[in-house]
Amino acid sequence: MSLSAMVPMMKGFVRDLRAYRHELKKQDAWIRRYAANKGWSVNPRWMVYTNLRLWLSDCEAMYGRRYCPCFEPTGDPESDKKLICPCAYAQAEIDEVGWCHCTLFGRGDLTAADYKRAEAALMAEYRDVPLTWAGGALDTRGQHIEPLRGLPVPDAIHQVKRALNAKGTPLEVIVATEVEAKHLERLAEMRSLSYARDDANGVIKVRLGDR
Ligand code: SF4
Repeated sequence: MSLSAMVPMMKGFVRDLRAYRHELKKQDAWIRRYAANKGWSVNPRWMVYTNLRLWLSDCEAMYGRRYCPCFEPTGDPESDKKLICPCAYAQAEIDEVGWCHCTLFGRGDLTAADYKRAEAALMAEYRDVPLTWAGGALDTRGQHIEPLRGLPVPDAIHQVKRALNAKGTPLEVIVATEVEAKHLERLAEMRSLSYARDDANGVIKVRLGDR
């Protein structure tokens, strides 16, 4: 990873660590208890494991429930329920490939090297996908659909966080759904940013700026 990509990532890590440092133990306790009951392993790599616990805490703060850090909830209660970590898909993924999508859990015999390989595949899905710009706005629509959940990867909120890290504000964003626009409003509130809607011709456009 280049230095210019690494610096904002580390800043985000420090920001989340400050915000959720008291949550880390709580997340660790249920994760280890659940994995032990299932005979699974937990990602042993400190940085990734810490990040995953921070992201779970961020999801709880953002959406009010401990949704999967890798997928944005859709607003449909039935499908969103399946995204609460540990999600309804984890066992099938562990049986098939050895680890859950986010690499939090894995088969009981996985090594740190196996987890490192799993993380590389995950990062390729999120960080290696180029952001799409349309007339100066980040266009989050039309991403690859992950077949098991039927949800986009990377989702709108991940793309926006990446763009904020890379470019900062003001940031114009095109999203596909009302729910995604609502999530950006919540993100703006959590990061003390301004939020405005400027829809035209059926396209939902959000502007995030400094307050
Ligand atoms: S993919 Fe892993 S981290 Fe994501 S919700 Fe499922 S079990 Fe949790």
